[in-house]
Amino acid sequence: MSAQGKVLLVTGGSRGIGAAICRLAAKAGYVVAINYASNEAAANALVAEIKAGGGEAIAIKGDVGNEADVLGMFAAVDAAFGRLDAFVNNAGVVDIKARVDQMDAARLERMMRINVIGSILCAGEAVKRMSSLHGGAGGAIVNISSAAATLGSPGEYVDYAAAKGAIDTFTIGLAKEVATEGVRVNAVRPGIIDTEIHASGGQPDRIAAIRGMVPMKREGQAEEVAHAVIWLLSDEASYTTGSILNVSGGR
Ligand code: NAP
Repeated sequence: MSAQGKVLLVTGGSRGIGAAICRLAAKAGYVVAINYASNEAAANALVAEIKAGGGEAIAIKGDVGNEADVLGMFAAVDAAFGRLDAFVNNAGVVDIKARVDQMDAARLERMMRINVIGSILCAGEAVKRMSSLHGGAGGAIVNISSAAATLGSPGEYVDYAAAKGAIDTFTIGLAKEVATEGVRVNAVRPGIIDTEIHASGGQPDRIAAIRGMVPMKREGQAEEVAHAVIWLLSDEASYTTGSILNVSGGR
């Protein structure tokens, strides 16, 4: 397989959509570096699962909203594998349901720091390792956006939607910036996906509430997002850059 031995780093790769990406990537032959923020047990369990299946993986702790952690995470990949071929900006957070007129600066700062600044910083580090301008052998980046970027998430979390809108624009700009340097940059916009992120935003019943608004009348599974990501990372997507793919059941 073309992915055999290639090194992939996934931020927030220990749970949810990120974990599904890591599982599928390992099956495709990637060596996987799994970043996580605090839940070490979940990250270690996924590493063990991938190794038990004959794959290679390591876990790297680090907050993508912290520049020193970002630099440390990429340095850890350098030390472990000495190369980086693929990178997924997956780590992301929501906050509790609120109107814009209820949001304070601390909430907004966290939302943008993790979801936007973290993603841009990480992509910059990936480009330093992949771009021919920096002596790299090329590579692919996928940013995880959200259907919220087009829906706006009124009354729920417009700040999160705006952060994902920034990811869309960032994807287009970076793709053009590095298009002649062997690096492709794309994004995936998941719709409502069955993960723990909804409960972490204080809405454990969010899927049941939204399911009926999805044209396909069901939530998506993390694996369904992962398949799109793995394709965008692969050589089969060699002429695809600056694209934003909806994986949202038609929503
Ligand atoms: P999730 O189940 O809550 O998992 C989040 C993952 O990100 C965990 O591995 C977590 O690590 C990690 N993480 C959280 N904050 C981090 C930080 N500051 N630095 C590094 N890692 C961090 O989330 P998910 O639903 O899979 O979402 C993944 C991505 O898809 C996010 O960007 C999200 O916005 C996007 N998305 C999700 C949906 C959906 O319906 N689920 C829809 C559209 C878009 P720990 O385990 O250590 O906490």
